Amino acid sequence: MTAKISSARLRDAHNRIAQLDALGATLAATLDAKGTRVIFSARISGGFTLNVFNTIVMDPHLQDPASFDFLVCTLAHECSHVQQGHLVDSVQQELIAYQVEAKIADTLQFAAGKQAFGKFLALDPTSARDLDTALAFILDLAGGSPATRTIYASLPKFQPRGAADNFAAALKQIAAVGIAGWQTLRPPP
Ligand SMILES: [Zn+2]
Repeated sequence: MTAKISSARLRDAHNRIAQLDALGATLAATLDAKGTRVIFSARISGGFTLNVFNTIVMDPHLQDPASFDFLVCTLAHECSHVQQGHLVDSVQQELIAYQVEAKIADTLQFAAGKQAFGKFLALDPTSARDLDTALAFILDLAGGSPATRTIYASLPKFQPRGAADNFAAALKQIAAVGIAGWQTLRPPP
C-alpha cells in the first residue's frame, strides 16, 4: 500500500522525511504501510491526526514554500501519532510525537524547530512528573488560547490502553476538540 497524499507539496514533505535518516524512513514507511490519507484543511492550525479515520489533516498555510521545513517537522509529528497507532490522544503520546519532531528539526538543522521542540528531548515519556512538564511545554507552545488549554488539560496523562482506547472514546475526544475549536490545536512556533 502507499500513503494517500492529495497534494504535491505534501508528497514532497513525505519524500523529504523518507530520505532524511533512519528515523524519517521509518516514519514515512508507516504512512505507506497503513495507506494513511494526508490532506490539507483550513480548519486546522499546524497538524492533526485522526487515527480513527486513518487520516492526517494539515494546515494549508504550510503550503508556503518558506514554511517547508516546518511542514516537514509537523508531518513527522503526525507520522509519530500514526506510528503509535492509538485512537485516543494523551500527554504521553504528544510527548513522544514532539520528541520525534525535535529529532527531525535537528537533522534538518531547522533552527526555529530546534528551539521550539528541543526541550522535549530531556523528558521521559514514562515519568508522571515529566509528563506534567511536557503538558506545561505543550500549553506554552499553544499560547494563551483558553480553548487550547481546555483541550490539552483534558487529555489523559498516560496513554489509555485496551478498552479505554476505543472508537467511541476517540469520537468523544474528537467531539470535545470540535467544540473547543480545531483552529487552536497545533499552532506554529
Ligand atoms: Zn500531536
